[in-house]
Amino acid sequence: MNIKTRGIVIKRMNYGEADRILTVLTSDHGKIKAIAKGSRKILSKLGGSLEPFCLVDFIFHEGRSFYIVTSASVIKHFEKIHTDIDKTSKAFYIGELLDKFLEEKQSHPEVFELFSSYLEGLENADDPILIPVFSAKILENLGFKPVTQNCLHCESKLLPEQNFWDDVEGGVICQPCHNKFGHGREIENDVIKILRLVFSPEFVVGSKININDKYKNQTAIVLENYIEGVLERELKSKKFMKDMAK
Ligand SMILES: [Zn+2]
Repeated sequence: MNIKTRGIVIKRMNYGEADRILTVLTSDHGKIKAIAKGSRKILSKLGGSLEPFCLVDFIFHEGRSFYIVTSASVIKHFEKIHTDIDKTSKAFYIGELLDKFLEEKQSHPEVFELFSSYLEGLENADDPILIPVFSAKILENLGFKPVTQNCLHCESKLLPEQNFWDDVEGGVICQPCHNKFGHGREIENDVIKILRLVFSPEFVVGSKININDKYKNQTAIVLENYIEGVLERELKSKKFMKDMAK
């Protein structure tokens, strides 16, 4: 069976004499692994279209153990992402995050859309908040959304006083709860406001956020730690599930 889909290569490795194995995030079939036969040969028709982080129209043949790339044409190349080392490494960071979080063949069209707009944003601007915001939106799509409206524990409305942030459970804790349970670390109320904005349904990744860089950086740190926390927990629970299945 052949499938036709738009996709973005997020990982690529050499295989055998002249082949490559690609990890592709597709718009309709989620993350898949595909083999590109002969793509490392100089005269390969496929070669140039299989660079990571391009928007590509693919045709795959569904093989027994792999999808096989039968045709690939580049729709958008993202010049700067491929020439600016800093941008390249940012694209790889997100690619790795997607690879870790997504199960194969589970369709997440909204994550694909997010990733396309992330690449667009990375190509055209370089806002320090782009990566954390994007990663946070992926988490949200996969069911990990931090609690920012009310207190994580007692669910009461947060007051304009010193509030706290809990990486492990992902959310804001009010002062009385912090005093009672002792965990969480200080977070500025302006950062809470940014988090609410980022996680509101109206928020579009790539839209300009007009805030002080100081708060942007603090938000970035909060989100990065949260992502690491979730990732660690998820990888552990995946490992646990695998161990249990043995
Ligand atoms: Zn509370």
